[in-house]
Amino acid sequence: MTDTEHFTCAHCGETYIQGWSDEEALAQTRADYGINVRADDRAVICDDCYTAMTAWWNALPDTERQRLEREGGYTS
Ligand SMILES: [Zn+2]
Repeated sequence: MTDTEHFTCAHCGETYIQGWSDEEALAQTRADYGINVRADDRAVICDDCYTAMTAWWNALPDTERQRLEREGGYTS
């Protein structure tokens, strides 16, 4: 396993060095969003966009969050 893989942010399109493993990223997503996101359909986003998306997600009404979870989360 390497910790110097690059990824392109799905939100802003910038390329960054990935500093965490897929497992850590998935665990973080689960902790922050309360949903399981499969690795193969997960959108990879940078820290800045992640912070913004977390704020957006937390501001959603519960009904909207539940709808998005049914439809596969925020990775449309
Ligand atoms: Zn970004």
